[in-house]
Parts: sequence; C-alpha cells; structure tokens
Amino acid sequence: MKILILDDDPFVLKLLSIQLRSLGLRRRGFFELVPCERGHLAVALLEAGHEDVGMILCDLQMPEMDGVEFVRHLVRVGYQGGVVLVSGEDERVLMSAQRVAKAHGLKVLGALQKPVTPEHLRQVLDEALLDNPAVASRPDQTAYEPDELRRAIDGGELVNYYQPKVELASGEVCGMEALVRWRHPVDGLVMPDRFIGLAEECGLIEGIARVVLPAALRQGRQWHDAGHMVDVAVNVSMGTLCSLDFPDFVAEQAQQVGFPLAQLMLEITESQLMTDPRSQLDILTRLRLKQVRLSVDDFGTGYSCMAQLRDLPFDELKVDRGFVHRAAIDPSLRAILEASLGLARQLGLKTVAEGVEDQEDWDLLRTTGCDLAQGYLVSRPMPGADVAVWIKRWESRRVELVT
Ligand code: C2E
Ligand code: MG
Ligand code: MG
Repeated sequence: MKILILDDDPFVLKLLSIQLRSLGLRRRGFFELVPCERGHLAVALLEAGHEDVGMILCDLQMPEMDGVEFVRHLVRVGYQGGVVLVSGEDERVLMSAQRVAKAHGLKVLGALQKPVTPEHLRQVLDEALLDNPAVASRPDQTAYEPDELRRAIDGGELVNYYQPKVELASGEVCGMEALVRWRHPVDGLVMPDRFIGLAEECGLIEGIARVVLPAALRQGRQWHDAGHMVDVAVNVSMGTLCSLDFPDFVAEQAQQVGFPLAQLMLEITESQLMTDPRSQLDILTRLRLKQVRLSVDDFGTGYSCMAQLRDLPFDELKVDRGFVHRAAIDPSLRAILEASLGLARQLGLKTVAEGVEDQEDWDLLRTTGCDLAQGYLVSRPMPGADVAVWIKRWESRRVELVT
C-alpha cells in the first residue's frame, strides 16, 4: 500500500517523507511514498487507478486547489483509504475541515498541526494500522505469550499515554489518567485491551502497575514543576490488590519523585478473577489513610457492583462510556446515566463521565450536574510530552464549550 503526500511546499514534502520513513513504514503495512505538490496531479494519479493508495496526507492551504476542494475530488473518484489533514492554520480550521471530510463519508484518520512532530505522526500511523483490514488481519492479532509480555514489562516497552479529565462547568483541566500502551518492536502500539486480561491471568498485572505508577508519578511531578497542578490517575485492577505492601510501594514511589499522594487517584477496575476481598479492603483502606483517592471505574458494566460501593472507601465514580456517548438521543442510556449520577451524589462521590465523544454528549452532561468529563471530544489519550501543548490549546477551546 502507498501513502500519498500532498503539499505545495517541497520542503514539507521532504520532511514528512523522512519522518514517515524513520517510523518504519514497511512493518506497518505501507510500502511506498508518493510525494505530490499539486492537487490536480494527485487527483489525476488517483483517477488513473492508483487504487493501492491506502493513506493520504493532505495539506489544507494550497494555492491552486485547497484541501477542502481536494476532499471533494476524493469523494468523486470513490477513494476508500484513510485521510490525514495537515495544516498550519489554527486548530478550529483544522477541526472543521476534518468535519467536512467526515461528512463526505471519508475515513479521516487524524489531523496534524504543523510543524508535525514524529510522535503525532506515529499516533496517526498507529490509527491507520487499526483501521486497515488488510493489516489488521495479520497473524499478530493472535494472543501474546506470557513470556513475551514479561520481557516487555522488564524491557521498558510499556509506555503511558494520558487522557485529561476536565470540569464540565468551567472546562478546567483537573487530572490526567495514565493509560498504558505496549510499544511492540514489530506490531507498533498495542492497546491495553490486548494484554491486560492476559496479564491478570498469568500474574503479571502487578508488574504492570509497578511500571505504570512510577512513570505516572514522575510525569505528574514534571507537570507540577511546569505549573500545571493536575491530579494523576492510574488504573489498578483488583488483581493487583493482593500484595499487602502495595500501599507502601505507592507511598515510597510518590515520596521518591516528590508527588503529593493527595493528588493521586487510583481507578479501580474489577478483574474477572475472584480475589481475596479481605486483603482488598485492607489495601484500599490503607491507601485512603495515606490520602490517595479512589475511583470506581467503568460503573454500570456489571464488574463494579453495589456491594463495592457499599464497602469500599471510594471518592469518585466513573460512569462507563457505554452509558454516556449518545445518551442525549437514547432515553434508556440517559436513564442509566442519570440514575448512576444520582446514586453517586447521594453517596457523596465526585462523578466523571467517560466516553464524551461529541457536542451532544457534552451539552447533555452539563445539564445533569456531572462534575467531570473525559473523552475524545476533549482529547484522545496522548504521550505525556504532548500534554503541556495540549493544555495551552485547550485554554482557547474550552471557552467555547462552557459558554
Ligand atoms: P478505562 O480505564 O475505562 O479507560 C478508558 C478507555 O476508553 C481508554 O481505552 C480510552 O482510550 C478509551 N476512551 C477514552 N475516551 C473515549 C471516547 O470518547 N470514546 C471511546 N470509544 N473510547 C474512549 P484504552 O486506553 O484502550 O484502555 C482500555 C482499558 O484498559 C482501560 O479502561 C483500563 O481498564 C485498562 N487499562 C489501561 N491502562 C491500564 C493500566 O495501566 N493498568 C490496568 N490494570 N489497566 C489498564
Ligand atoms: Mg480508567
Ligand atoms: Mg473506564
């Protein structure tokens, strides 16, 4: 499969080509780059039947044919691959161009702000991988072996991405949730759904927590040093909560990097495995005594039950994304969402809605009294190094969302 790069600036063409190559195209299922300086030429190429173009990186601002016009041509020629919009214009222009392309039914893989960083480009490629059926059906979609995962944990292949939690009333950024990814040497970025279950089954989940947590605390300290006083949230499977020394480990790590425990939130997800409820209660209570806050994750999915809420010292409840996205147009989702929020309120818990994907989700939540929102509308999970820049951009976007 080929990647077509369309930009009127030859320097940008060269730069993007170098960046794409250095990311290792071949093992991501792409084999050739086709640089192009003019929209008409690109259209002609596609019309001539170069149907093996699987991805197009397209600049928005071009003298003869701009990106939006080009998108129209893509629809006309029946282009089926992915599209990435690239622009030096401000974020809102980029977003609305993205909406145009989506409204035309094109597969929009992402939007890149110039200057394009290698990390952003890598994210987009990873997305393309997930979206591409030819690539997705590769044999590596099969399960990983415990040994391979163990080596990855020890070898530093796990990296944290971060997704913001923002206040619905003010738009203020309150926290960052660490979401682990496996930077696999061959398969690229592997999502947690593909290895957390395995880790739980073969006793590696605690090993993951012992990598993710220190990294998140270090990152949190860096944000604090830069003046962003956000909380940091880390996911913890119930399965991790077997070692009675876990609270001491958490406290030591936080002390080592100088991150305040009161700004750490642990999101507890219940694993399918039955573990010892007595030690869980012991561990969670001791964490709470150390000022760490606790959140019940994925509320409403059945794994997290009423008995947990009754027995455990939680501070926050996260309504599962399955009851959030589309709740404005689906009365049964909305009923469950509102009941969950009501329950949390009566128990004195802060509420977070996950999976806030569009404006309708956001607008509904603002009427429900839910405290915080998290989801693609606000931001996708991103590498820690991108957060400071994201916060700066969010400052201008949030005004629009809260007025
Ligand atoms: P979670 O803690 O409920 O995290 C939210 C998941 O929803 C994340 O997927 C996130 O990328 C995704 N998400 C966020 N916003 C949206 C949205 O608007 N729409 C949709 N459709 N999805 C959204 P991710 O990163 O793949 O993580 C999946 C799950 O893996 C997490 O669910 C969490 O249970 C688990 N996990 C992630 N990192 C860790 C970890 O370090 N330790 C443990 N034990 N579990 C982890
Ligand atoms: Mg979570
Ligand atoms: Mg969740």
